[in-house]
Amino acid sequence: MGVKVAKFGGSSVADAIQLSKVKSIIEADADRRYVVVSAPGKRFSEDNKMTDLLYLCKTHIEHNVPYDQVFQVICDRFRAMEMNLGVDVNLEMEFVKIRENLESGASADYVASRGEYLSAVLTAAYLGYDFVDAAGLVQFDEKGRFLDEETNEALSKALSEHERAVIPGFFGTYPDGSIKTFSRGGSDITGSLVAKAVKADVYENWTDVPGFLVADPRIIKNPEPIKTVSYQELRELSYMGASVLHEDAVYPVREANIPINIRNTNDPEHPGTIILSEPDRSSDRIVTGIAGSKDFSVIAISKNMMASERGFIRRVLSILEDYDVPVEHLPSGIDTISIVVSNKKLNRALDEILEEIERKVQPDKIDVFNNMALIATVGAGMTNRRGVSATLFTALYEAKVNIRMIDQGSSEINIIVGVENKDFETAIKAIYNAFVK
Ligand code: ASP
Repeated sequence: MGVKVAKFGGSSVADAIQLSKVKSIIEADADRRYVVVSAPGKRFSEDNKMTDLLYLCKTHIEHNVPYDQVFQVICDRFRAMEMNLGVDVNLEMEFVKIRENLESGASADYVASRGEYLSAVLTAAYLGYDFVDAAGLVQFDEKGRFLDEETNEALSKALSEHERAVIPGFFGTYPDGSIKTFSRGGSDITGSLVAKAVKADVYENWTDVPGFLVADPRIIKNPEPIKTVSYQELRELSYMGASVLHEDAVYPVREANIPINIRNTNDPEHPGTIILSEPDRSSDRIVTGIAGSKDFSVIAISKNMMASERGFIRRVLSILEDYDVPVEHLPSGIDTISIVVSNKKLNRALDEILEEIERKVQPDKIDVFNNMALIATVGAGMTNRRGVSATLFTALYEAKVNIRMIDQGSSEINIIVGVENKDFETAIKAIYNAFVK
């Protein structure tokens, strides 16, 4: 018998109707032996995620405002699920315990984690699987750093005693047993850790989209789905804004060479996207995906004889480091250097940073352009192929898009162009039409 780990996101476990789809998916393949769940998510667009409601309880307490109403909403949602699923998991006792802990000052992490915990308890009962708590298995040190080896060992040992189990995502414990969560969306990480621990054949990540798409459907109508993507391509695309999976979920399975299959709970026949360690060489595809984001700034610095001034770039970069502003790109000429940073991360520190640059490196000129969008065209198929840049730049030229910056990483799987914010959508359409359509 094979082993598959199936992780279901918030919308897949949002209510009993969604869970009935989960059950059909699990029953359709006996290899789906380990299931990781998120907390119930939104059932419709104006709905609340359980995790947000739980954080809200904690915020009420911190501000000395009664939290009973919010708590009631949470309990009622879980009660309705228990009833509609036709299971009995003694939720009332769980609610009493959570309330007691809330009253005695439990941390926000603990409170938030109860969404995943109760979701897993309900799902396990409904599927007839064992419930295995993540507490004590997914481990962090006192400083909150994730303990990779300890976790892997504990999870594989614990799960070897259960042929079929449901594990709550998103959290683990500090050495003293108190709860620590991953960052938001972190159930994806738990799924990946479980997959590695049980040496799964595949890590299925079930969500509410049919996998990755070649481009953002808000910009391109009905974009092609991406059937296969390598970890490296995915990393480039996710960094630029294509988000389906938590970024940190990739590492555990990548290390263990386990493919990830993104699937859609609402369309289980759709094959979704498979993420592999190596790019799919059998395909003649050039571009795998196009992603981008708006609102970057370029700080362009010029100084005569810059190229021969030792330590110039280092001094400029150390200023950004002091202000904790990450540098996205650093295109440079002989006597010029441009620093590309995200406006969000500039944290209004631009004026101070510019002053520091003036003071420390005395440039001849600094220009700031703060309306730039970056677009990454990613594909392992671009490697060693002539004419890719020519096609890309011609497409942008024909679409009357002015390119403000070009950066092609040495791996040759990514060409990044900087265009003005106002040209962002036009540029993506032009690139899509040139390579995909
Ligand atoms: N429930 C958590 C969140 O909303 C974690 C997750 O769903 O992955 O962020």
